[in-house]
Amino acid sequence: MRVQSLLFFIIILLIPVIIFRKNIKSKFFLKNKKYVLTKVVSHSDKKIIKLLNIAIADEWLAYYQYWVGAKIVNGNLAQEAIKELVQHANDEKRHAEMLTEHIIKLGGLPILDFADLQIISGCGYIVPPMSGDIKTILEQNIEGERCAIKFYKDLLTQVQDYTELEKDIVIILKDEEEHERDLTEILNKV
Ligand code: FE
Ligand code: FE
Ligand code: MG
Repeated sequence: MRVQSLLFFIIILLIPVIIFRKNIKSKFFLKNKKYVLTKVVSHSDKKIIKLLNIAIADEWLAYYQYWVGAKIVNGNLAQEAIKELVQHANDEKRHAEMLTEHIIKLGGLPILDFADLQIISGCGYIVPPMSGDIKTILEQNIEGERCAIKFYKDLLTQVQDYTELEKDIVIILKDEEEHERDLTEILNKV
C-alpha cells in the first residue's frame, strides 16, 4: 500500500513536468543530444557544446531583434539609436561566429534548424512594438543584454579548462556590458 501511494505521488509530481516540458528551457535542453556528434566522447566537451548552442541561439535572436528594431524605430533620437542598434546587431553576429568556431573545434554542430533558435535560446526573443517606439525598443534590448551578461558570467565559471574559449567569452561579455551601457545612455536622454 505504501509503495502504491508513493508511486501515485510521484506520478502526480510528474504531470506538470510532462505538460510544461516545452516551456522548461535551457537546463533541460542540455539533455538534448542534437548537434553533438557521436565522435565527441568527453562529457565535459558535450556540455560545453550544448551551452555554446544556447549562446548561439541567443546571439542570432539578439541580432534579429537589433536589426529589425533599427528598421522600425522612431521618435526623437531615432538616428542616434539606429547607429547603435546596427552596430550592436553586427557585434551579435560576430559573437555567433566566434562561438560557432569553438563548437566545430569541439566536434559539435551549430544549430541547423531555424525553429530550434527559439527553443534552445536562454534569453529568448522580445517582439518589438509595431509602433517602433524608441523607449520600448531600447528597454527591450537592455533587458536582452542583462540576460546575456548573466549568461556569460555564469558560462565563464564553467570554461576554465578551455583557455581559448574563455578568452573569447571575456571579449563577448565586455561587448555585452558596453551594449547595455550604450543603450541606457540613449534611453536616459529620450
Ligand atoms: Fe552578443
Ligand atoms: Fe549584446
Ligand atoms: Mg554600442
